[in-house]
Amino acid sequence: MTHAAGPAPVLVLATHNKGKLSELRELLRGQVPGLDVDTQVVDAGAVGAPDVAETGVTFAENSLLKARAVAEATGLVAIADDSGLAVDVLGGAPGIFSARWSGRHGDDAANLRLLLAQLAEVPDEYRGAAFVCAAAVAVPGQAADGGGREVVEYGQLEGSLLREPRGEGGFGYDPVLQPSGLDRSCAELSPEEKNAISHRGQAFRALLPAIVEALAEHRRREQA
Ligand code: IMP
Repeated sequence: MTHAAGPAPVLVLATHNKGKLSELRELLRGQVPGLDVDTQVVDAGAVGAPDVAETGVTFAENSLLKARAVAEATGLVAIADDSGLAVDVLGGAPGIFSARWSGRHGDDAANLRLLLAQLAEVPDEYRGAAFVCAAAVAVPGQAADGGGREVVEYGQLEGSLLREPRGEGGFGYDPVLQPSGLDRSCAELSPEEKNAISHRGQAFRALLPAIVEALAEHRRREQA
């Protein structure tokens, strides 16, 4: 594959979500000497990375298996995240099943409707919930080494569930999660406000040192 627009990619984020890609690019901007984030940090589509089935039973497992598979398939350092909504009175569900809670993968409206119906009788003081995220980084060739240098980090955005959806922004369960200390739902926050406090933002920021180290490790391996 040729990349006429600039230097070849070195880091791939295992997603087709452009919002996640720009969040990661902003986080990495200026952090890694010699890294041109706009051309060298790309999403799965840009390098033909495979879609990896989320067969794990934890967010961490899913993020790791995606990062590992995409690193091996592309030969690039790979980052993956897995996230969802954990509701206190449901024992952490929908959790890893958040995107398919109603039975159809990615049907945000149906997922949200079902969740609100399930919680209809739950009083306000017991409507605690959080968005949670695990983000992982993997270097190609690591799996053969026993995966010793893979890293997973976590983020969590705590709040409570509203009784009706509010706001037009965001996606998924954003209209029903009101972060602690705010009087707006996540769907009523600007993208910048949401990124600043989001579970994914926290997990990506926590992963930053491991990403920098993974890029250095990959460079060493390529030069060896
Ligand atoms: P994924 O990690 O992008 O696959 O997200 C899994 C599912 O969790 C999404 O389809 C949403 O239902 C839910 N989810 C994850 N993060 C968020 C968020 O920031 N806002 C709203 N819903 C989210």
